[in-house]
Amino acid sequence: MPFPAPETLAIIGAGPVGLEAALAGLDHDFDVQVLEQGEVGSHPLAWGHVRMFTPWRMNLGRHSRAHLEAAGWAVPDPETCPTGAELAERYLQPLAQLPELAGRIHAFTQVVQAGRLGLLRGEGSDAGTRRARPFRLLVRDQGGRESFHHAFSLVDASGVYAHPDWAGTGGIPARSELYLRPQLAYHVEDVLGLDREKYAGRRTVVIGDGTFAATTVVALARLAEEAPGTTVAWVTRAIAAEIFPAAEHDPLSGRRELRMRARALATGAHPAVAHVGGAEVDEFEFNSTTHRYRVILATGEETRTEEADRVIVNAGFGPDEGLCRELDDDEPQFFALGHGPHGHEPDFLLETGYRQVEDAVTRLADGMRASAS
Ligand SMILES: Cc1cc2nc3c(=O)[nH]c(=O)nc-3n(C[C@H](O)[C@H](O)[C@H](O)COP(=O)(O)OP(=O)(O)OC[C@H]3O[C@@H](n4cnc5c(N)ncnc54)[C@H](O)[C@@H]3O)c2cc1C
Repeated sequence: MPFPAPETLAIIGAGPVGLEAALAGLDHDFDVQVLEQGEVGSHPLAWGHVRMFTPWRMNLGRHSRAHLEAAGWAVPDPETCPTGAELAERYLQPLAQLPELAGRIHAFTQVVQAGRLGLLRGEGSDAGTRRARPFRLLVRDQGGRESFHHAFSLVDASGVYAHPDWAGTGGIPARSELYLRPQLAYHVEDVLGLDREKYAGRRTVVIGDGTFAATTVVALARLAEEAPGTTVAWVTRAIAAEIFPAAEHDPLSGRRELRMRARALATGAHPAVAHVGGAEVDEFEFNSTTHRYRVILATGEETRTEEADRVIVNAGFGPDEGLCRELDDDEPQFFALGHGPHGHEPDFLLETGYRQVEDAVTRLADGMRASAS
């Protein structure tokens, strides 16, 4: 196999962070290829009904914006907050159509796993051998055909939305959660729109303390006003007093309002919403005759059971831990971007991801020049 050129940069994922990395890479003279398992912006499209808390001015990467403006793109109103769908349609799709990215974005191309050509994890770390070997990516196209892609620099911008966290205590699955997972909901359901019929007039258990769970519970409380019989049991590890305690100081008005409403719901503001605080999920049961679930909870020393027609687990999301497991912890010429160091930060904002790109691509370019000289 001929080695790729030193300036080759492979990027996993065509979300906002991956595309910003692509344009920053071009600005630093990299030969960029973006490998995307779905369509461009597939994750924001999946939560397309959710309005972002951050306005357009916070959602645009510096390199992306400069390239779009040079192509005559009309900047959206900087103070308006887009939905996920608007982010994809008005920003990510125009980015992907830029002439400078033509032929560089490979949609419906999944990276199965990334490693270093001829080196296992930990091998060659001290001698600097790893830098001299390209990354080797096993990729699979839409038809299931597999091939290898090689590059000397690698950015993992595969996001977190495809990997929901488990409901069970300690971040591991509750009993029977693995088995029932295909029929539980783990994403931010469109309960007032597309998914309405699943929840209207039914009882739903929502599990999770963070902003995703709050989004779902607030939407279900609204649905309860329109569709009689809709009720919610909101299960959180936190007790009610610990739910968004500083919400009123949040500088992002949309998030502030959401969190204050969620906090009110946790303290009995709506008759359709019952809050179960200080609870850990032990087990799920499904009755295939009644099609109802039992969620068994540990609340201190006690056990409590919630029954429902639907279960939504909104415990958070984390990166695909398997994708780069053959890479070293301090792998040269590699960055995983778009989340914090632990990968499960619920309040990670795009502007942080763009700052990561700026830093990472500058360092990759320094490394590329050092290897070339
Ligand atoms: C409901 C919701 C609301 C949010 N609201 C805000 C907000 O108001 N403000 C804000 O700043 N942030 C918000 N965020 C967070 C922000 O959207 C994310 O941080 C952002 O989408 C991350 O961008 P990304 O490019 O890192 O990842 P993603 O947008 O998740 O893109 C990752 C891409 O990688 C692809 N991919 C994954 N695995 C592979 C693979 N193996 N091979 C090839 N491709 C792969 C995926 O298909 C996807 O297209 C929100 C997130 C959610 C879920």
